[in-house]
Amino acid sequence: MLGGTREGRVLAARLAGDARYACMLSYAGRTENPELPDLPHRVGGFGGVAGLGEALRQYDALIDATHPFAARISANAVEAARLAGVPLLRWVRPAWEGDWIEVADMTEAANALGPVAKRVFLTIGRLEIAAFRSAPQHHYLVRAVDSFDHGLPNAALITARGPFALADELALLRDHEIELIVSKNAGTSATHAKIEAARMLGVPVIMVARPTLPPAHEVETLEHVLTWLHASSGSERGE
Ligand code: NAP
Repeated sequence: MLGGTREGRVLAARLAGDARYACMLSYAGRTENPELPDLPHRVGGFGGVAGLGEALRQYDALIDATHPFAARISANAVEAARLAGVPLLRWVRPAWEGDWIEVADMTEAANALGPVAKRVFLTIGRLEIAAFRSAPQHHYLVRAVDSFDHGLPNAALITARGPFALADELALLRDHEIELIVSKNAGTSATHAKIEAARMLGVPVIMVARPTLPPAHEVETLEHVLTWLHASSGSERGE
């Protein structure tokens, strides 16, 4: 199971006590203090498609439960599973739907902020923050799980890990006099409160659309993952 998400942890916890399965949950190792499950897990990249394919030799099935914006590992999973002849399932959260300014990527998001200085809440993690260096006229409030060097000239950093409550998000937007929010369309309930808070306060949201992933068998619920897993392990064993 490729994780780094709440879905990965939920699935791992669900399968932990099930004698039919021996599971390994894989983390990239991006966060300093990941919420590791009390069951077999590994941390760190595989070294691309070849490395993941090699690792898959020990397994009968691969579940990609990574974040919808983790495009490289999801593409690698498709290719590695094909090469290794291992069935792959992608567990993907449904995207949020709403009324916002949709952009294709972080560069477009930075451009969409406009020329006039604004107070902007950046809730996009740390990996793509550099895109906003091209718009130094804004004051940024950056929220990330771990502290990091964002390199933005006019910014405050807060570290926090979801889930976030609506009352707290409302207070945060008010206290920092936020005028615009930039978010990824993560689709998780754990971080949706900021979108609801923005709607209530009339703060516009610039929403970065999800990257396109290569086709794979996708499901959206834990129940569907378990059904697929049972069916695929049943066919492996000739049940
Ligand atoms: P990415 O760009 O798709 O992947 C970059 C590289 O990181 C991959 O090529 C792979 O290295 C390694 N990797 C990624 N996920 C891995 C996993 N679960 N197990 C082992 N190696 C993994 O991914 P990313 O956007 O940097 O995200 C990294 C992790 O953070 C993912 O597990 C994802 O679920 C989680 N996450 C991402 C976001 C986000 O916004 N991107 C948000 C929350 C959580 P090798 O090629 O060496 O195998």
